[in-house]
Amino acid sequence: MMSETASDQNQSVRYGAGIRFSLESELSALGCSRALVLSTPQQSDVALNIAGSLGDKAAGVCSRAKMHTPVEVTEDVMAHAKAAQTDCYVAVGGGSTIGLGKALALRSGLPQIVIPTTYAGSEATPILGQTEDGIKTTLSDARVLPRVILYDPELVVSLPRDLTVTSGLNAMAHAIEALYARDRTDESTKMALTGLACFVTALPNVIRDPSDLAAREHTLVGAWNCGAVLGRVGMALHHKLCHTLGGSFNLPHAQTHAIVLPHATGYNEAAVPNLLAPVADMLQGTSAGTALWDFAKSLDAPTALKDFGLTENDLDRAADLATQNPYWNPREIARPDLRQLLQNAWAGHAPGT
Ligand code: NAD
Repeated sequence: MMSETASDQNQSVRYGAGIRFSLESELSALGCSRALVLSTPQQSDVALNIAGSLGDKAAGVCSRAKMHTPVEVTEDVMAHAKAAQTDCYVAVGGGSTIGLGKALALRSGLPQIVIPTTYAGSEATPILGQTEDGIKTTLSDARVLPRVILYDPELVVSLPRDLTVTSGLNAMAHAIEALYARDRTDESTKMALTGLACFVTALPNVIRDPSDLAAREHTLVGAWNCGAVLGRVGMALHHKLCHTLGGSFNLPHAQTHAIVLPHATGYNEAAVPNLLAPVADMLQGTSAGTALWDFAKSLDAPTALKDFGLTENDLDRAADLATQNPYWNPREIARPDLRQLLQNAWAGHAPGT
């Protein structure tokens, strides 16, 4: 069944099994006829298939998207896009591919259509992170918000089990931090709770049956709601820690979010228990931090940063970096407490132990 929601940010959002095949009409609606289809090397077959469905409206396929959106890749692809007289970008993939599409849109002013295949949520935000000379910088610009999102659950069926779980927890992290954001609104809270409820219900179902398209679509509704709040309100300690661990220690994005989430939630819960009480209720736990920990463990999520290349010797530096230029946070960030949080997340201990 195909369905549609329209966001209030000049973005059209559509869901449905096989909806990727309506891409040609989306291009026509945008007045475009030369789409460059983007993907990672790992998803080039999906990109080729989608380009094939466009016939002569495909200007080509470029499968060079990489984690952290390196500027040199963007510039090479930009030159290729110009030569191919591209008038629109179609990003098929997760946050890395969507990042490339956003970087190209920023430079060219051309519209983008996104067909997301993970739950990271970048498609719903005007945020772009790019890396140059090893330094990652982030900007927010309305020009990078994709014009159209086509959520096709058939394309998420291939998402490996471990990435399904960690990417889902990555999305939930946006919503958790939106619940206590300083600039939250009734609308952002409602969207955050909607997104969380989708994952709490549907994530166990897609783990049980990865090809359950109704459950996959439910997770994509969650991805849009969680991504949209990421673009609307400020993030706090959890995102600061994950950006530090990803940017300075090269830890993988979704796995890091999945491991840190119960710990950062537990830390902040001490200051804002009422704002996080709906999370504990939704997960039928006594506190949000421990309920998220139990939920993650029930899905066999990774629990220890040490399993992803972080050494115990890195923890002091990570605590120092995470306390520099801190994001606003509902609980004061005391370095000894943060160091303990990192120790627990590194070792795979339960939050607050
Ligand atoms: P990703 O895009 O890096 O994908 C991880 C791997 O999984 C890739 O090899 C990809 O090809 C593969 N993959 C993706 N979907 C698949 C599928 N359905 N089947 C099989 N393989 C699949 O991972 P991600 O977690 O989606 O994105 C992480 C990046 O996105 C980070 O750089 C992060 O900073 C960025 N991000 C940006 C925003 C934003 O608002 N700007 C939001 C969230 C994430």
